[in-house]
Amino acid sequence: MMTAADSPRPRIALLATGGTIAGAGTGEGAAYRAAVAPVGELIAAVPGLARLADLHAEQLMQIDSADFTDSHLLQLARRVAALCARDDVDGVVVTHGTDTLEESAYFLHLTVPSRKPVVLTGAMRPATALAADGPVNLLHAVAVAAHPSSAGRGVLVVMNEEIHSARDVAKVHTLRLDAFASPHGALGGVVEGAPRWWRALARPHTADSAFDIGRIDALPLVGLVASHGNLRREPYDAWVAAGARAIVHAGFGGGTVPAYLRDAFIGLRARGVLLVRASRVGAGPVIRNATFDDDGCGSVAADDQNAPRARLLAALALTRTQDAGEVQAMFLSY
Ligand code: ASP
Repeated sequence: MMTAADSPRPRIALLATGGTIAGAGTGEGAAYRAAVAPVGELIAAVPGLARLADLHAEQLMQIDSADFTDSHLLQLARRVAALCARDDVDGVVVTHGTDTLEESAYFLHLTVPSRKPVVLTGAMRPATALAADGPVNLLHAVAVAAHPSSAGRGVLVVMNEEIHSARDVAKVHTLRLDAFASPHGALGGVVEGAPRWWRALARPHTADSAFDIGRIDALPLVGLVASHGNLRREPYDAWVAAGARAIVHAGFGGGTVPAYLRDAFIGLRARGVLLVRASRVGAGPVIRNATFDDDGCGSVAADDQNAPRARLLAALALTRTQDAGEVQAMFLSY
């Protein structure tokens, strides 16, 4: 790999994992296959990239991000942490499918113990599309990762000229280029090719997080059930039978539980399963004891974490403690 003496340009490790940014049209209308183009082709599609940084590219995996399992997450976090620990790496960019990008970004945000910039990006259109968004997203992601002002801000997601915090961002549209949004707003934007910051995160992350990928061998199984009218207890029972240690309930509104399921939910703790009440709404806090007796039932309110991220935080919390009160404190802290 390059040394500081060879080049004054920032040294950025580029990890490719697949997704639509590496997708190719199949010739049938809008149909395409994700995770086809190798990382060298992604770089070749962005002429200005080499001027911005010395790139060290790796094809870590080549998958549709819908296929990410917890073992892919652990593999990704270990590799990002190893790269961040190197003296000859100034920052890391990860290309990723957009479907689970927010989950991988949040996992890295909580487990990579480094202040170096780590930036995830992807694309809503495949690389072969007439107006593909992948090349400019990649250019901006490298520009952000290469900029000294990006250090210490936690893991960042760069899409559509915006810079989002991995704590908050979510995919909120199935098709449009502005598919990613944060309930509290973006941290910044890419303006004239460089990051411009509007706000900073108040919650701990990366180097200040209690979770360190170097000390995590495996994640406990955590299930997630989305609420809907006529909700039934069977999916919760199925997660218990599968060996889940916690279940995230993506409840109505403020994490509400239907009255006719309260006893089933209260019974989860006795079966050794922690209930985490999140919301299916996608923004706003779930407040402890407000619509459910969390104190009496030993359950946890997810604060403003969306349900997929609450799954990850619950799994990480359970690697450290079995105490519902301590898990609750982690939800209010992170
Ligand atoms: N299914 C694709 C993926 O997540 C979608 C995308 O990348 O936009 O890998």
